[in-house]
Amino acid sequence: MSECIFCNIVRKEIPAKICYEDERVLAFHDINPVAPTHILVIPKEHIASMNDITPENVEVFGHMAFVAQQLSKEAGVAESGYRVVVNNGPDSGQVVHHVHAHVIGGRVLSSLC
Ligand code: 5GP
Ligand code: ZN
Repeated sequence: MSECIFCNIVRKEIPAKICYEDERVLAFHDINPVAPTHILVIPKEHIASMNDITPENVEVFGHMAFVAQQLSKEAGVAESGYRVVVNNGPDSGQVVHHVHAHVIGGRVLSSLC
């Protein structure tokens, strides 16, 4: 998986502004933020998209949601509001094929589509 940029970040081969890490997930600030808070939460295991959820790896997605909630509190947007977005496949605009939850907040967000 050496060509996956997020696997590179997990292995600390390229830098990122990491804001949370444990044995299962990593969270870091998006390099091109679209709002004052824009954090990416990823599984450390390479999972390309939500199409690849299986009974064996499904638990990490719940953990990602909990980490997103905790980081929203740390960022001070839990009460003002934030959005958690997972892009999957071409029509969604997914660019990095290592599943990631965008945690976006800190301003009023426009409608989804
Ligand atoms: P996608 O469209 O795949 O859901 O979003 C990919 C996100 O990853 C984009 O918001 C983009 O700015 C971010 N990104 C891409 N490469 C890097 C990187 O090397 N470092 C960081 N921190 N974010 C990245
Ligand atoms: Zn990867």
